[in-house]
Amino acid sequence: MYALVFLLLFFLWFCKTAVLYSCFLLLKFGSKGFPDCGADEKEDVRCPEDLALPFRKGRPWRYFSGKLLDFYPSFLRVPLKPGRSLMDWIRLTKSGKDLTGLRGRLIEVTEDELSKHNKKEDCWICIRGFVYNVTPYMEYHPGGEDELMKAAGTDGTDLFDQVHRWVNYESMLKECLVGRMAAKPIAAPKEISSTVSEDMKQLNGVLPEKKVLASSAKDLSPSYDWFQTDSLITVVIYTKQKDMNAELVIVDCQDKQLRGEIIIDDHSYLVEVDLDHAVSEDVAVNIAEKVGKVEIILNKKDNIHWKMLGQPREGHNTFIKRTDRGLFYRKCKLVSKTEVTHDTKLFCLMLPKGTHLCVPTGQHVYLKQIIAGTEVVKPYTPVLPFLPLDFQEPPRHGGVHIYLMIKIYSHGLFTQALDHLQIGDYISVSNPEGNFKKSQVQTSEDLLLLAGGTGFTPMVKLLNFALTEVSCVRTVKLIFFNKTEDDILWRSQLEQLALKDERFEVQFILSQPSKDWVGKQGKISSSLLSEFVKRSRRDSKVLICICGPTPFTEQGVQYLKDLGYSQEEIHAFTA
Ligand code: FAD
Ligand code: NAP
Repeated sequence: MYALVFLLLFFLWFCKTAVLYSCFLLLKFGSKGFPDCGADEKEDVRCPEDLALPFRKGRPWRYFSGKLLDFYPSFLRVPLKPGRSLMDWIRLTKSGKDLTGLRGRLIEVTEDELSKHNKKEDCWICIRGFVYNVTPYMEYHPGGEDELMKAAGTDGTDLFDQVHRWVNYESMLKECLVGRMAAKPIAAPKEISSTVSEDMKQLNGVLPEKKVLASSAKDLSPSYDWFQTDSLITVVIYTKQKDMNAELVIVDCQDKQLRGEIIIDDHSYLVEVDLDHAVSEDVAVNIAEKVGKVEIILNKKDNIHWKMLGQPREGHNTFIKRTDRGLFYRKCKLVSKTEVTHDTKLFCLMLPKGTHLCVPTGQHVYLKQIIAGTEVVKPYTPVLPFLPLDFQEPPRHGGVHIYLMIKIYSHGLFTQALDHLQIGDYISVSNPEGNFKKSQVQTSEDLLLLAGGTGFTPMVKLLNFALTEVSCVRTVKLIFFNKTEDDILWRSQLEQLALKDERFEVQFILSQPSKDWVGKQGKISSSLLSEFVKRSRRDSKVLICICGPTPFTEQGVQYLKDLGYSQEEIHAFTA
C-alpha cells in the first residue's frame, strides 16, 4: 500500500518537473525549435521598434534567445510565430502576391467602406489619409494582432503618432495600399495650430479639421523675411522667443533647396523654399539669442539680383505641432568607425556642408537604410567623441559631426547593415527627437544615472552637461549595469573622470561576471538601488535618469518609486 502511494507521488512529481522543464525550454528556445534541431535563429529575430505600427504604447518587450516576447502587463509573453520576422515580411511584399485583394488597383475609400473592414480576416486602417489593408500583416506586427485591431476600420493616425511616428509605414506597407480616403476619416482630429492653408493640409495628406490659431496664439507665431547684397542672401526668422539657441535651429541647404526649422517647445516653424538661383554649399547661421532672431546666410553662386527668394514648398511658413511635421532626413558621410568594445563601435558621421544641426542632450536621431529594398529606420542617441576631462569651457562638438555608439548584434537586421558600411558611404540621419528637457537637470543637486548596456548613450552628454554647465550640481553618479567586464563602455574614461572630478562617481555592476571580478554583481533590484541611489543631503533636489533594455528600465522605475522617489524625480529614456 505504502509502496503504491509512494509510486503515485513520485509519478506526480515527475510529471510536474517534466512540464516545468518543457515550459523552460519552450521559453528559452521558442516554438521554432531547440538549438539541436538546426533552426535558424535569425529568422525569428524581432525588434520592438520594427514596424511597430501604433497601438502598443507603454508595452514592455523582452528578447529571449533572439525572440521577442511581449511582457504584456502581467508578464504574459506573446512570441510572434516562426517565419514572421521583418525580413519575412519584406520577402512577402517582394513576392508579387496581391496583398490588397484589389489586383493593383487603387480606390477611393469612404468612411463607410473603411468601417466595414474591421475584422482580423479583413482589416483596413487609415494613416494620414491613406488606407492600408493590413490583414496580411497581422501576424508580422511586433505589437501583436490585438494591438493592430485597435485601429481596425478607423483612422489610426493618432495612435500611430503616439507610438512610433518615425516608422516608415509607407515603405513597409506599400504593397498593402488600398487607396486614399474620399472624405474626412473617422478619428477625432488632432489639434493643429497652424497658419497653413487648407490646401496645404490636404497636400500633407493629414486631413485634419481646420483649426486656425487664436489671434493671441497667432501673435506668437514666428515670421520670416529676406534681403540680399551682391553676394549674399540673408533669410531672417523672427522667432519671438527670448532664449533661442543653436539646438533649436535646424538648417539644410542643398541643391537649391532651403529648409530652416525652428523648434519652439512642442511646435515647429518652417521656412522651406526652392531657391530662385543657385547658392554655394556654405551656409552660416547667426542667432541673436536674447531677441530670438535667426539669420540664415547663403552665398550666391552668381552675383545677380534675385527677384524673389524662391518657390514655397509644401510646409513653407507653417507653425505646427512637431509631431505633425514629417521627419526630415539628410545624407551624412561615414568618416570613421572605431571599436569601443568587442561588439560596440563609435560611428562618426559628417553632416553635409549646408546643414546646421546640434542634437540636444538627451535626444536621439533616426538612421534610415534601405535593406532588401525596404526602408528600415532605427533610433540612436548621439554621444560625444570622448568624455572631456577638462571642464574649463562648455565643449563645442556640435555642428559638423555626429558620434554614435552602436552595439552590433550578430543577428541584428539594422546593425549588421550598418557594420557593413564603408568609410565614405552615406546614411540618412533624421532631425532630433525626444522628450528629455535640459531644464530637468538645471535645478538638480544630485544627478543619478542608471544605465544598462548601450543605455549608457544618453548619459554621456547628460553627465557632461551637468558637470560643465549646471552650477548647482553637487554629485553626479553613474550606476552602470553590464553583463561582463568586456561589455563596459568607456570604462577607463569613466574611471579617469571619477579621479579628476570629485563630484563624479561611477559604479559598475555585472550580471554575468567572471570569477576574477571583485566589484559589485547582480541585476537591477530594490536592494542594489537602495544601496547606491541616495541623496547627498536629506533634502537635496535629485534627478534620476534611467536607460537600458525595456524591462530593465521598467523594473528600475518601479523600484525607484517603491524607494520613495517621485515621478518628477525620475526620467526614463524609452522609444
Ligand atoms: P534586430 O534585428 O531588431 O534584433 C536582432 C537581435 O539583436 C535580437 O535577436 C536581439 O538579440 C538583439 N537586439 C536587438 N535589439 C535589441 C534591444 N533593443 N535590446 C536587446 N537586444 C536587442 N542602440 C545602440 O547601440 N546605441 C544607441 O545609441 C541606441 N539608441 C537608442 C535610442 C532609442 C530611443 C531606442 C528606442 C533604441 C536605441 N538603441 C540604441 C537600440 C537600436 O535602436 C536598435 O534597437 C538596435 O541597434 C538593434 O537593431 P537591429 O535591427 O540590429 O536588431
Ligand atoms: P545588455 O548588454 O543585454 O544588458 C545590459 C544589462 O542589463 C546587463 O546587465 C543585463 O543583464 C541587464 N538586463 C538585460 N535585460 C534585463 C532585464 N530584463 N531585467 C533586468 N536586467 C536586464 O544590453 P544591450 O544589448 O546593450 O541593450 C541596451 C538597451 O538599451 C537596448 O534595448 C536599447 O534599445 C536600449 N537603449 C535605449 C535608448 C533610449 O534612449 N531609449 C538608448 C540607448 C539604448 P542580463 O542580460 O545578464 O540579465
